Amino acid sequence: MIIRPLNAIAALCGGTMLNDNGGAAIEGVSINTRTMKPGMLFVPIQGERVDGHAFVEGALADGAGGSLWERSRAVPDALSDAPLILVDDSVAALQQLAANYRDELDLRVIGVTGSNGKTTTKDMVAALLSGSYRVHKTEGNLNNHIGLPLTVLELDESFDAVVLEMGMSEFGEIDFLTRLAKPDVAIITNIGESHMEQLGSRAGIAQAKLEIVAGLRPGGLLLINGDEPLLHEGIRTARLPEGVDVQTFGLQDGSRWVADNIRVDATSSQFGVKDDEALQRVELPVAGRHNVSNALAAIAAAKKLGVPASAIRERFERLKLTAMRIEPGRAHNGALVLNDAYNASPTSVRAAIDLVASLRGYRRKWLVLGDMLELGPEETKMHGDIGAYVTPEKADGVFTFGALSQHTATEAAKHFGDAGDEVRVRAFDDKALLTAWLLARVEPEDLVLVKGSRGMRMEEVVHALQRG
Ligand code: ATP
Ligand code: MG
Repeated sequence: MIIRPLNAIAALCGGTMLNDNGGAAIEGVSINTRTMKPGMLFVPIQGERVDGHAFVEGALADGAGGSLWERSRAVPDALSDAPLILVDDSVAALQQLAANYRDELDLRVIGVTGSNGKTTTKDMVAALLSGSYRVHKTEGNLNNHIGLPLTVLELDESFDAVVLEMGMSEFGEIDFLTRLAKPDVAIITNIGESHMEQLGSRAGIAQAKLEIVAGLRPGGLLLINGDEPLLHEGIRTARLPEGVDVQTFGLQDGSRWVADNIRVDATSSQFGVKDDEALQRVELPVAGRHNVSNALAAIAAAKKLGVPASAIRERFERLKLTAMRIEPGRAHNGALVLNDAYNASPTSVRAAIDLVASLRGYRRKWLVLGDMLELGPEETKMHGDIGAYVTPEKADGVFTFGALSQHTATEAAKHFGDAGDEVRVRAFDDKALLTAWLLARVEPEDLVLVKGSRGMRMEEVVHALQRG
């Protein structure tokens, strides 16, 4: 993590030091007093409900080495001798601190953006690099204008590579993050439909992701999903820094990196990298064709950074992903439960349905789908489209939770009908009712996939199934 005297921190973030702290070095940066450690710089952020400035006094009492303070607020008497750095805007100062600190570091940076699969791909890249590099990565999902700078500030000479997740909901955000991070390798996992409201169209989404080239280092590598025509189109007009190499990856022929012989079961996948002798049998301990696509991007990045094929295969076998992304578990009676409750968008729900469709050997395969949130004015139609996408060939039952998902159920019901006495499609607006209903019916040989947007907290259904 960053270790600097307070006055050096003030210079790096463009602030003015009000009082020194007696010369003690600042060790790390925190925006949260609950996780802050003594010696850290506290950064008070004005949130929607609370203003971080209210915690500055407490942070210093708990041992913070200093704190930022926004000039628009009068410094209270209690803090008149405190080690404060005056800034115009705490978040901007945090970002400037991270940007200047990044420029002092000598390490490889890999940036990952895309509509779906960022966290997964980030974790895969980090797994492939560790062993060859001392790797740091974005923790969990801290991928925004605050999380990314904080991740950068965790770096120091003890690392020689970092994998940064870059999220966005509007134009300009990836541009900002990539200029701060200056990646050597940038990955665009895919283009979906999230944030359509702000970005207008899928082409707009592609443009917004392609902003990642703005910070790419000259001679760097851009990896794009070759199965997405909008990325091919977008790249033609993108302003690439000098000497940037663009490579495509995908499941369909035509990309530089193509996966073939894909085999997927409920808990793992296997594939080969086309025309690559040494990578004919790659085993992934995670399911889903979309994860094969993410793995290809990770392989391409790892190869660029010199990781040998044998290490790639070994490190994939030991891969551990962040929770709630098609995480296999068991219901109390032994039924297989795939917990994909971390998030949902039309693209990722289709990917999950495709996965379920491809799995064999289960008595019944059920989809338990919560609402997909933040989709904009087309949200009703998009839920209906998911319902239309589920056919009896792909799954044996569709059970939904939430007002929007009613449209999923309505469309699905059109080609399902009931199999004898068995209800195969039903919409619930009460989660407890849904779980009770599932618990009463799920059999040990069944498979249940649970998915929904973060706000729907569909993991509660998973936990209820596990408890019984
Ligand atoms: P967020 O925007 O919430 O940070 P993310 O981009 O980090 O999401 P992940 O957390 O890696 O994405 O994956 C979320 C879900 O998206 C997964 O559970 C899976 O269903 C789906 N998914 C992952 N990769 C892909 C992909 N390449 N294409 C389509 N869907 C995918
Ligand atoms: Mg993520």
